[in-house]
Amino acid sequence: MIRYIILISRFNFLLIGALFLFLIGWPQNTVAQNDNSGRFKTVVIDAGHGGRDPGAVGKDVKEKDIVLAVALKVGEYLKRELPEVKVVYTRTTDVFVPLDERAEVANKAKADLFVSIHANAISNPRIYGAETFVLGLHRSEENLEVAKKENSVIVLEEDYTTKYEGFDPNSPESYIIFELMQNVYLDQSISAASIIQEQFETRVGRRNRGVKQAGFLVLRKTSMPGVLVELGFLSNRSEERFMASEEGQVYLASAIFRSIRDYKNRYEARNNLHMAQGEPTNVEENMEEMTPETTEDFQPEEVIEFRIQVASSARRLSEKEGPYLQFDDVWNYQDGQLYKYTTGVSASYEQISDLLMEVRKIIPDSFIIAFKDGERVPVSSVRD
Ligand SMILES: [Zn+2]
Repeated sequence: MIRYIILISRFNFLLIGALFLFLIGWPQNTVAQNDNSGRFKTVVIDAGHGGRDPGAVGKDVKEKDIVLAVALKVGEYLKRELPEVKVVYTRTTDVFVPLDERAEVANKAKADLFVSIHANAISNPRIYGAETFVLGLHRSEENLEVAKKENSVIVLEEDYTTKYEGFDPNSPESYIIFELMQNVYLDQSISAASIIQEQFETRVGRRNRGVKQAGFLVLRKTSMPGVLVELGFLSNRSEERFMASEEGQVYLASAIFRSIRDYKNRYEARNNLHMAQGEPTNVEENMEEMTPETTEDFQPEEVIEFRIQVASSARRLSEKEGPYLQFDDVWNYQDGQLYKYTTGVSASYEQISDLLMEVRKIIPDSFIIAFKDGERVPVSSVRD
């Protein structure tokens, strides 16, 4: 009997509901949302720092200038190759933008992905390589240091203690909030970060320092998948030169562009899969179709690097001997049984030749070697 009454009252409720919908019409926004879902529409490109905040400072260049140049190139490639994607910048000139405003720009744009571009610096000039961060609690002191450095820009903002609820960028205790936080976009952010790191390593010949987690305020305040890219170390001479060069910036920007394109394809393929219920779709196949051949045309297909060889040794040298004492940027590779040591790196033969004259003042029999996509090749085969 009780059960019967409940059934009746449910029936009444449904009737009233149907009548109500009939009178006010079907909610429009539900339809509109379904219509748009599944497509990657907007990306925010965030060039770190700017204006009175130079970011990391190298010998010749500042982080704010390098990251702006790379960010603008990424946007340019996106607009040219993927005109259906809306590109939103947090800055396009040398201006100071507070962290919370950057996040607000992304949230207002309802972006599908937030890409913050930075460059690193550290006291040890021998450390180099690219790394990409997602929001989380740091697993090492090293990661905490990067987050501290990037977050400390808020002290240049007026009223930062109120705006960031008393967050002190330099106090490790402040970072406890990142432990309690739930990052609902973690998987997608890691996926984007991994694509970027893979591109940097395989297509730009960067040393891959990996995908890492740390507490970045700018990522915390954005409500979408997001990554913070550290292009390289301005404290390492050869990496500074690479990032300061036009070639270096083109390579880095194309890698980030391709990563966003791949992320978009995966995102859409996955959503199509969900929408086409019961109808098995091959994600890989979809991605093939959605990747037009022509988008590859303008990008450097192969990465050429010239370096200057200054020493070779049958055993691995420590960082306290030989070439490490003579040069501040030493890179080594293994060739059969030998460890070979180089200094300097450039995509231009002309540039490396200029450097060779300087290096020969210290090591008279040093010479130029060449790498194509990370493989040693004869200099003559890649010299323009
Ligand atoms: Zn930075």
